[in-house]
Formats: sequence, structure tokens, C-alpha cells
Amino acid sequence: MDLKQYVTIVPDFPKPGIQFKDITTIMDKGEVYKYATDQIVNYAREKQIDVVVGPEARGFIIGCPVAYALGVGFVPVRKEGKLPREVIRVEYGLEYGKDVLTMHKDAIKPGQRVLITDDLLATGGTIEATIKLVEQLGGVVAGIAFLIELTYLEGREKLKGYDILTLMQF
Ligand code: AMP
Repeated sequence: MDLKQYVTIVPDFPKPGIQFKDITTIMDKGEVYKYATDQIVNYAREKQIDVVVGPEARGFIIGCPVAYALGVGFVPVRKEGKLPREVIRVEYGLEYGKDVLTMHKDAIKPGQRVLITDDLLATGGTIEATIKLVEQLGGVVAGIAFLIELTYLEGREKLKGYDILTLMQF
């Protein structure tokens, strides 16, 4: 299946100059969403994953059906103030200023093999921060899967040494 034809490119969203890759037109078609999910599930099976981790909100859309298919857990990574119990946190740089990601302190057990998922690899900042959270708890990042990679932003450079699957490249 040619997944690219189901991505809607929205010019100048959320600000001028950004070509936004809208994946809702993958998700709203059952057979297309399933096909994309299955590619990531097959990859995860090879990596013998114990748990799936994804940053809000689109990391959930990709990661939760993968976790369900594998019969493993899903751990949400969220913005500060959203998780109700004790968290670990990491600050990461945005285009302007800083943001914080958090994860429950007991979410991952040392040695667990983790698959990280998100919709899109841009600069890699979000996933770099997510890796720090996983590794702080002793998790092993066994793979990272995205639907889309924006190759011109060279996010892979930031994630050197990790195994990465991307289903589409722009
Ligand atoms: P990153 O720069 O890799 O940290 O990207 C952060 C997040 O921003 C990704 O997970 C995407 O959800 C979102 N994002 C960045 N650029 C785009 C884009 N061109 N289209 C859609 N989403 C984007």
C-alpha cells in the first residue's frame, strides 16, 4: 500500500512556511490505519518489545494499537502537570524557549525493552527527550517507530545509535 497518498499536506499550518503532515486521513480509514499499524507491529515483534512508550498526543495514536496487538503495556509521556502521580521530568529545547516532558516514576522496570512511537520525526527533539526519560528508569530503547520522517531536518542525527523505523519519508 502506498501510504503517502493518504497523508494530507496542509500548507502554512500552524504558521507560515510549515508544511503540516496531517495523518488523520490515515487514521479515519480502517484498512489504512491497520496497514500502517501492522508495519510497526511486525518491526516490534523482531525487537522483542516489553512495553511501548509514546509522547502525547499523536504518539498515543500510533503506539496504543501497537501495544494492544503485541499484548504489552503502553506508557504515556506527557506535558508537565498532566500525570497524577510522582514523575520524572526532562526539559528540552523548542524553536523558542523550553518545554518539559514527564513520565510516571514507576512506569518502566530496569531492563525492559522499549519501543518508542510517534507520528513524525522532525528535528528529533521530542524523541531525544523521551529516550532520556526511558533510560533514566533503566529501560532499554530497542526501537523507535514513526509513520513519517522529514529527512531534510536530519532528526536521525540526534538519535544516532538507535534503531529507527519510518514508514514514509518526505
Ligand atoms: P520534533 O521536531 O521531531 O521534536 O517534532 C515534534 C513533533 O511535532 C512531532 O512529533 C510531530 O507531531 C510534530 N511536527 C513537527 N513538524 C511537523 C509537520 N511538518 N507536520 C506535522 N507534525 C509535525
